[in-house]
Amino acid sequence: VKKVSKSFESKAEPVKKAAVLGAGIMGGGVAYQSASKGTPILMKDINDAALDLGLDEATKLLNKRVSRGRMDAMKMASVLNKITPTLNYGDFGSVDLVVEAVVENPNVKKAVLAEVEGELPEGAVLTSNTSTISITELATALKKPENFCGMHFFNPVHQMPLVEVIRGEKTSEEAVARTVAYAKAMGKTPIVVNDCPGFLVNRVLFPYFGGFSALVSDGANFQQIDKVMERFGWPMGPAYLLDVVGIDTAHHADAVMAEGFPDRMTHEGENAIDRMYKLERFGQKNSKGFYRYE
Ligand code: NAD
Repeated sequence: VKKVSKSFESKAEPVKKAAVLGAGIMGGGVAYQSASKGTPILMKDINDAALDLGLDEATKLLNKRVSRGRMDAMKMASVLNKITPTLNYGDFGSVDLVVEAVVENPNVKKAVLAEVEGELPEGAVLTSNTSTISITELATALKKPENFCGMHFFNPVHQMPLVEVIRGEKTSEEAVARTVAYAKAMGKTPIVVNDCPGFLVNRVLFPYFGGFSALVSDGANFQQIDKVMERFGWPMGPAYLLDVVGIDTAHHADAVMAEGFPDRMTHEGENAIDRMYKLERFGQKNSKGFYRYE
């Protein structure tokens, strides 16, 4: 974990207007969080149905707050007004920072990042919410890699305080400082880390999932392991957490970690994550993972 230099942090211009590319699980969450904390945000996707999903998610979260008496209807309307859904780059010329949250595919991300870079004003910061792709590698698609860094939120965005700000080889200190400032304005706890497979959190989490999968392969009962880890004091056990993360996502990240750290992260034969993946039990997203969801 690195510190962002205090002199850069104090000089970082606040983000007055942001944009998010992709209105999916993460993009919708980022839009909600930014608007809730007062920073207007453009939310771009490639079709209306996706934009509607992102807006519906934000509306659902806001309705919950209203029904619990934590927000009035006027405030809810003003938060929703701060999210501008769009299918084109119309107002991107006045944006200070962009969070790219499209599908986890390096070629799609590179194309989208190069395209949006051409729409932004001088000095705007471009970030990616990628979970597994190297920031230095994504930066090769850009004319100004110094203005680019990782901004890795966790799911669900409105509940998870941590944000990893990832410094690529060419990222400037100004870009890091501005991203840190935006994360703080969103009410999050940013940490600055270097670019490596898994960044920081997944380097801790995936060996843990690996240990869990090996125990299950050795014959242990996954429900018992979950109960034990809850008694240990963790809010949920590894099987349930994998269902929340998504088994397909975990399977992909596992492969990235194995490639990045072959001495530590490879396993012989199939583990529990591989088996669940083959059975298409992707977790909560398709209502069946280690557990069943109605
Ligand atoms: P998702 O599939 O829910 O959403 C992706 C969205 O991107 C879709 O709405 C899709 O229409 C849109 N999209 C595709 N191409 C586009 C383009 N050219 N321009 C604009 N929008 C486009 O995916 P997600 O789970 O929200 O993940 C998004 C990113 O966040 C990925 O990089 C993922 O690795 C990362 N991430 C996901 C999680 C998670 O738990 N889901 C956690 C942290 C980070």
